[in-house]
Amino acid sequence: MILSDQSPVRGLMQHWPLTVTRIIDHAVREHGSRAVATRPVEGDVRRTSYARIGALARRIAERLVAADIRPGDRVGTLASNTDIHIALWYGIMGAGAVCHTINPRLFDEQIAYIANHAEDRILFIDTSFIPLVARLRPQLQSVEAVVVIDAEASENGFIALDDWLMGTDTKFGWVEVGEEAAAGLCYTSGTTGHPKGVLYSHRSTVLHAMMANFGDCFGLKASDVVLPVVPMYHANAWGLTFAAPMAGASLVMPGPHLDAPSLYRLMRDEGVTFSAGVPTVWLGLLNYMEAKGLSLPDLKRVAVGGSAVPRVMIEKFERDHGIRLLHLWGMTELSPLGTASAPRTEETGLADADTIRLKLKQGRVPFGVEMRIVDDAGAEMPRNGTASGNLVVRGPAVARAYFRREDERPLDGGGWFPTGDVATIDEAGFMQITDRAKDVIKSGGEWISSIDIENIAVGHPDVAEAAVIGVPHPKWDERPLLAIVPRNDKAPTADDMTRWLTGKIARWWMPDEVIVLERLPHTATGKLNKVALRAIIRDLRDSAETHQERKEP
Ligand code: ADP
Repeated sequence: MILSDQSPVRGLMQHWPLTVTRIIDHAVREHGSRAVATRPVEGDVRRTSYARIGALARRIAERLVAADIRPGDRVGTLASNTDIHIALWYGIMGAGAVCHTINPRLFDEQIAYIANHAEDRILFIDTSFIPLVARLRPQLQSVEAVVVIDAEASENGFIALDDWLMGTDTKFGWVEVGEEAAAGLCYTSGTTGHPKGVLYSHRSTVLHAMMANFGDCFGLKASDVVLPVVPMYHANAWGLTFAAPMAGASLVMPGPHLDAPSLYRLMRDEGVTFSAGVPTVWLGLLNYMEAKGLSLPDLKRVAVGGSAVPRVMIEKFERDHGIRLLHLWGMTELSPLGTASAPRTEETGLADADTIRLKLKQGRVPFGVEMRIVDDAGAEMPRNGTASGNLVVRGPAVARAYFRREDERPLDGGGWFPTGDVATIDEAGFMQITDRAKDVIKSGGEWISSIDIENIAVGHPDVAEAAVIGVPHPKWDERPLLAIVPRNDKAPTADDMTRWLTGKIARWWMPDEVIVLERLPHTATGKLNKVALRAIIRDLRDSAETHQERKEP
């Protein structure tokens, strides 16, 4: 391969590093008065602008530097989607530090693990997380200060943001770092073992936001009003808090209020034109609107991803409400956008049924993501819409290693990242997920560890072997199903297993169904074969349904 740096003639264009602060500077300069509305943890909707968010970010950066936060140091946030959280992102990154967004829905041990692993020095939290952080405080080894974003006063060792910012002004100059410097950190618990940190750079973040703004992705415009339902602690809020100010789109931040009535009211009152979130949230909103006979005339497009979009959702959005649905697939490791299901000329004007079939696919890659499917030996498989293989990706916003696990090198020899998803790609480049090689379950947008449940289930004296898989669920996308092989004739009942698991796993992890099998399928190397088990369960359920239909008069 010839490296361009070896050319004796260098391009003569300006040096303009792709750093995140350029996004907020652009928004302040060109779209300073554009509104950012927030429904805070408590109280009425408050309004600010990109100009004021930029000013607050500079104060935050100044104060971080005064607190001796150096380039590359990690600063955590444990907060919902608010204007101040946006200012914190830019302030932390503008101080040259790394903004570590922590998912408050993780278990206590996981939160403590990732804060310690990241060595977070300062933690910014919403008031609603004070009890959580007070509980975890003794375990947080590197945290020097906890700043509460929306507290009226400092108390019990928690500093109110206003107190912490005392003495700062809005003139502070950003700490200059190169575009390859780390900017953001997000841990993903999508596979077994400890959560792993995905470390975004300034460059990857800026390039990803530009990709997000391509017409076939979010395609945000200065005439859009954008409501990110996807939380800022989930894979960068899908890049929206960078893509919106980059485009000059207004933002509407829902705080922690993600229930259907609150979302509906906020979208209606603020004239939201574009929104993005996981299927569970949208199902709730659609059902609420249907039950009350409501509509959202301003809402033009919704992006739905994180789990497969059910057919009924496409029908309801597109057919009943005239709202365009964009099916997305992505991963934390991809910053997170991977594909979007936007039609090409060839697919516009298709009959309803064909449009729905198309939108059930996860979609095509934008420039900046390369994707292919490979067999178990790593050989590329055909793009014919039927051959199904391991999905691998590469690009400037795709992780090449995990934070402080650099020696583990997840990439294959060709530099491709294995997604753990199994998919087909058709001739036109539309990818469709057909299965998952990784052993996880995603329920309502959050991961459930099948291995953890299995380990506890096999501890039951009458269970010889246990396997947990995700099965489709209309509300939660997936719910866990526990399959057990009894140790002897006395098979435990579903109730026995529920009693056994109660108190040992989170309540929302509890399998919805327990089935008893004579044996479980295994791979050649003796590992549980979840792909085969999922097929067995599908067959069992299909034949049960057919049986049921036959029995009905
Ligand atoms: P995110 O926070 O974007 O959901 P995660 O890294 O937590 O990212 O999860 C990524 C995984 O979620 C993917 O590898 C895939 O298994 C699943 N996923 C994401 N989007 C879809 C989709 N549209 N259809 C099916 N599975 C999806």
